[in-house]
Amino acid sequence: MTTYFGAIADDFTGATDLAGLLARSNVPVSLRVGVPKTPPVKTAPLEIIALKCRTAPVRQAVDEARAALDWLRRAGAKKFFWKYCSTFDSTPRGNIGPVAEALMEALEADQTIYCPAFPENGRSVFMGNLFVGEQPLAESPMKDHPLTPMTDSNLLRLLEPQVKMPVRLANRHTVANGPQALRERLAQLRQDGVAHVITDAVTNDDLCIIAEACQDMTLLTGGSAIAMPLPDIWLRQGLVDRSGPDLSHHAEDGPAIILSGSCSAMTNRQVSAYVLGGQPSFRLNPLDLAENGVEEVFEWLSAQAPDRAPIIYATAAPNEVRAAQDKLGTERAGAVVEATLAACAIKARDLGFRRFVVAGGETSGAVTKALDIRQLNIGKEIAPGVPWCFARTGEHHIAITLKSGNFGTEDFFTKALEVLDA
Ligand code: ADP
Repeated sequence: MTTYFGAIADDFTGATDLAGLLARSNVPVSLRVGVPKTPPVKTAPLEIIALKCRTAPVRQAVDEARAALDWLRRAGAKKFFWKYCSTFDSTPRGNIGPVAEALMEALEADQTIYCPAFPENGRSVFMGNLFVGEQPLAESPMKDHPLTPMTDSNLLRLLEPQVKMPVRLANRHTVANGPQALRERLAQLRQDGVAHVITDAVTNDDLCIIAEACQDMTLLTGGSAIAMPLPDIWLRQGLVDRSGPDLSHHAEDGPAIILSGSCSAMTNRQVSAYVLGGQPSFRLNPLDLAENGVEEVFEWLSAQAPDRAPIIYATAAPNEVRAAQDKLGTERAGAVVEATLAACAIKARDLGFRRFVVAGGETSGAVTKALDIRQLNIGKEIAPGVPWCFARTGEHHIAITLKSGNFGTEDFFTKALEVLDA
């Protein structure tokens, strides 16, 4: 059976998050890093292309998404998905809206939905407002994100400046009335010329209703969780099955390393817990790095005992991040840290490390790119939306997990290593 579902993710952790949730269906999932340069052969029923375009210039994001769509269509995909963060990370310029409109145009789709809700991870949407746990998005730690600070919680207001066509809401009352009620609401909005529909969702049952109601849409958009019910719907209809190419879940033996460039509140707690646990740690300072380069980190890493799972991190509190950004500029501060963690990943691989735990979406993109990883096969889930993945880098087979900033519990790093050994 060829590919039925093709997803495009705006960052790497988002792509593995989606892959992990789809893989719960046991339908084979394959994840490509960037648009493959070779034509599709032996593709999986569910294919995901990970881009690194969340904060790219709009034009570039749109071009990359169009190229990804072309590849997925050639692989045979009939249904498409645009995956972004469950905290709707974007700016008034984009890139969620412009990419969605470009994909709709290419697919001749007149309507799509926006559903970032991820109930298992505390993201819910009610009356068009996005909540992180009990906090509105703009009052959550996302207000301090280094690249996409979210200062409004209302998805209609966030999306409107990003798109040309009208935006409206299908609210929780409609969703709670079931798939038929939602279908009717969508049809009515379509008649009114509404292309972009924010859909409320608070529970996994809401997501099942939305997936059921929207299964005929060529393009859906959202966080990972709205895609989770889809494979089961397609299995029942015989549109996908559990056969597919043999995806390797193998890594060579070798020590583990943790690389953290996320400054989210949860990653700050995870790094503290790990460091307080007595593991060897190296804290990166963007100002030092800009001035003196990476030699000191490399020396430290080369001196580490192989069995202690060292951590190298730039993770810092919002005031420290702002201080570095004030001195270096936001982009340069981010770029220096990303380049350093990417260089550390290569160094670690060359020193024999074979298990990589990476925290941060942009950071994961930089690390994956540096390791020249082109395809990831999806293994066991560590936390909702964070699976172990298996990949080739150079001549080596490694295990790698890419954690989006806010995901996982405080013990994530130790838990990740335990899950791999289990
Ligand atoms: P998340 O998944 O939490 O959003 P990302 O890796 O996507 O994490 O984004 C964090 C950004 O912040 C990256 O560009 C990273 O290089 C940058 N960064 C990390 N540490 C610091 C720091 N101490 N000062 C300034 N910027 C930082």
